[in-house]
Amino acid sequence: MKPKLIIGNWKMNTSFDEAQDLIIGIIEALESVTLETGVVLCPPALYLEIATDHADDSDLFNVGAQNCSEYDNGAYTGEISARMLASIGVDFCIVGHSERRKYFNESNETIAKKVNQLLQFGIVPVVCCGETREERKAGHHCEAVEKQLAEALFQLPKEHFEQAVIAYEPVWAIGTGETASPQQAQEMHAFIRNLIEKKFGTETAYNSYILYGGSCNAQNAVELFSQNDVDGGLIGGASLKADDFVAIIEAGETAIREN
Ligand code: PEP
Repeated sequence: MKPKLIIGNWKMNTSFDEAQDLIIGIIEALESVTLETGVVLCPPALYLEIATDHADDSDLFNVGAQNCSEYDNGAYTGEISARMLASIGVDFCIVGHSERRKYFNESNETIAKKVNQLLQFGIVPVVCCGETREERKAGHHCEAVEKQLAEALFQLPKEHFEQAVIAYEPVWAIGTGETASPQQAQEMHAFIRNLIEKKFGTETAYNSYILYGGSCNAQNAVELFSQNDVDGGLIGGASLKADDFVAIIEAGETAIREN
């Protein structure tokens, strides 16, 4: 098994002081352990710079944004570009989260443009995909995910695709407390890896990171991360408390040790 990657998505949570405390709490916990697992914190945009300062000082984690503009620069009031993110040392950026698809009408086409922007500035796009409850009930979950990936990510040339991370996040599991079973997660991750293999070849498929997201917590993380094709997690609610988040990182280490 390759080392796991655990990404914390804070969403629109924390005050400035709470954000500082959370970063410091995570650093203090990680300082005492040797990790193979990669750790990425995605705080709200306003706190990215303090996060990158702490990341530089501690060398214990990388920093990701939760979104970026599909445009390079110019008259787009309120937007933050990939160029700006790169200029303060942001290394990762979540794109196509189901909350952005739902509340901000983000389409696969827009996500593809954001992915292009990020790659142009050397930022790793963390591209989210996942089916709704209705799609799963109808047995269309694989087709739904395939369409999202085909339109948002698989248009890339192989050398660019290889820089992206995929996060499978069933919409019905995000923030609901209802996690995909390890078998459901493995089935979808294997399906995605197979799609990658058909399009880009075996080596690219093996090396690709496919993370699971959706009500992942310290209790269910080891079993999820022990599945062959689950390379780590995108963690929402449970990334907002240092102890809970660090326990999930430790679950990543346990999964590698035991498998
Ligand atoms: C997320 O928002 O990406 C997520 C997985 O949230 P949660 O862990 O709270 O379900």
